[in-house]
Amino acid sequence: MSANAAPVNLLRIRADLLDWYDREHRDFPWRVTRDPYAVLVSEVMLQQTQASRVADRFPRFLRRFPSAQALAEARAADVLAEWSGLGYNRRALSLQRASAMVARDGWPATVSGLEQLPGVGPYTARAVASLAFEIPVGVVDTNVRRWFLRRFAIADSPPELQRLADALAATGDAGQTDTWTHATMEFGASVCRSREPRCGTCPIAAGCPSRGRAARVAVPRQATLRGSDRAYRGAVLRDLTLRPGHAVPADVLRHALRADADRIGPALDDAGWERVLAALEGDGLVHQSGGVVAAGPPLQSAHEHEAEGR
Ligand code: SF4
Repeated sequence: MSANAAPVNLLRIRADLLDWYDREHRDFPWRVTRDPYAVLVSEVMLQQTQASRVADRFPRFLRRFPSAQALAEARAADVLAEWSGLGYNRRALSLQRASAMVARDGWPATVSGLEQLPGVGPYTARAVASLAFEIPVGVVDTNVRRWFLRRFAIADSPPELQRLADALAATGDAGQTDTWTHATMEFGASVCRSREPRCGTCPIAAGCPSRGRAARVAVPRQATLRGSDRAYRGAVLRDLTLRPGHAVPADVLRHALRADADRIGPALDDAGWERVLAALEGDGLVHQSGGVVAAGPPLQSAHEHEAEGR
């Protein structure tokens, strides 16, 4: 089916899902705000971290850095320390650079303008546009893709999925733009789930070609973490953010990683150690000076980093 083939059905499906969301959605702290900064923080956290973990960390992050200005002015090492445990630490520095741009220039209130912010891709730009600025554009995350494929039996093609998402977002009451974005993602996460979809209580089961026989929708598998460079990079950052001043002599740091080999992976040889530190330095996540490794780039403001590019 194409997104434009049955506008009446889209209206019905959207209305049924909005009613269902109103009755049954889970409460998460990012669902009660339209503050673009808070929305951006939550969307960046949710990109690669489970919602239950973000639910703990999102309010804490906002207490520590309550505005784009506050985040832009913070030490990168402190931002990384607050981010520790959420994974994919480059996101924290990109978020800080995005905040620096916003603090300087104000919020871009278009999808294309939002995409110019560091760390903000097409999905995140659309999420922020719809949730914070009431722009009726559709979002396609893993959960939305799954329920679209099952309910509409359309091709698993990003442009086609996006067209359908945009058509649904632009259907019906413009005043419910943010609620719709939450609803479409929540429905895939909690009803049309990857395993054991709840077809028996599904609010849009009528006419669903997958009802009662929904196939699993494959998602790309993540590589094993233990023993990967990602595991060592994460361990270095985690260790540094727990140290006073977020800095420690390199040999002490390397010893600490060896002592945690069961969790991280076998001790790195010299070449592996250099490779991991070089990658972290290249991303601005650590810097070295006089045999000491410290979290964050060499002392430099987020504004200066932002000027260097993304
Ligand atoms: S009926 Fe089942 S497969 Fe179809 S949309 Fe509902 S939960 Fe998903």
